[in-house]
Amino acid sequence: MGSRVEHGPLGADPMSDPDRGERSDVAAVIESLMREVPDFPEPGIQFKDLTPVLADARGLAVVTDALAAVAEDVDLVAGIDARGFLLGAAVATRLGTGVLAVRKGGKLPPPVHAESYALEYGTATLEIPADGMELAGLRVLLIDDVLATGGTLAAAVKLLRMGGATVMGSAVVLELAALEGRAKLSDVAVTSLYVV
Ligand code: AMP
Repeated sequence: MGSRVEHGPLGADPMSDPDRGERSDVAAVIESLMREVPDFPEPGIQFKDLTPVLADARGLAVVTDALAAVAEDVDLVAGIDARGFLLGAAVATRLGTGVLAVRKGGKLPPPVHAESYALEYGTATLEIPADGMELAGLRVLLIDDVLATGGTLAAAVKLLRMGGATVMGSAVVLELAALEGRAKLSDVAVTSLYVV
C-alpha cells in the first residue's frame, strides 16, 4: 500500500490529478528510505522512522517540494516538534515564508498558548508563543512528519487558531490510516504524501 491522499476543502482527487505520476514517485522515495522499528518507544508500537528520508538529499528535496505544493499562498509555515521543525523550515524556504516551531510543553518562555492531548503512546502538551509575534490574520500551512491518532495535528490547529491564524491546510509525510487520525481533523484539509 502507499499513495498520496488528500481530503477537505483544499484536497483534490488523486485519481483525477495530472500530477499523479510525480506523486507516485514521492511515495516511492519515502517507501524506499523510511525505516520501520518494531516495539518502539513501547511494545506494540510500530515506529515509522523518517530520519533516513530527511538525511537523503533527494528524499529531503522530494518531500519538501511535495509538502510545499499543498498550500502555496500562505504567510507562515508551522512545524510540529521535532521532525516537523526540519520539514517546516525546509518548506518555508521553498514558499518564501518564515517558520513557527510548535513546541512540546515547557520549552517556551511565558506567555504561551497551550493545548494538551492524547498520543498513540501517552499524553503530551504543545505550545506556541502568546507574545512576541502576531499570528492574527496570518494564513498558515501546518507540517508534521507522521499522522497517527491525530491528536498532535488537531492540538496544533487549535493553538494556531487560538493565536488568531487561519490554517490553510496541514500536511504530513506519512499517515497511519488504521489509527483514523483524520477523524479528529474534519475541519481542516490534511494531505499525506504516503499512507500505510
Ligand atoms: P498522533 O498525535 O497520534 O497523530 O501522533 C503524531 C505524532 O507522534 C507525530 O509528531 C509523530 O512524530 C509521532 N508518532 C506517533 N506515532 C508514531 C509512529 N508509529 N511512528 C512514528 N512517529 C509517530
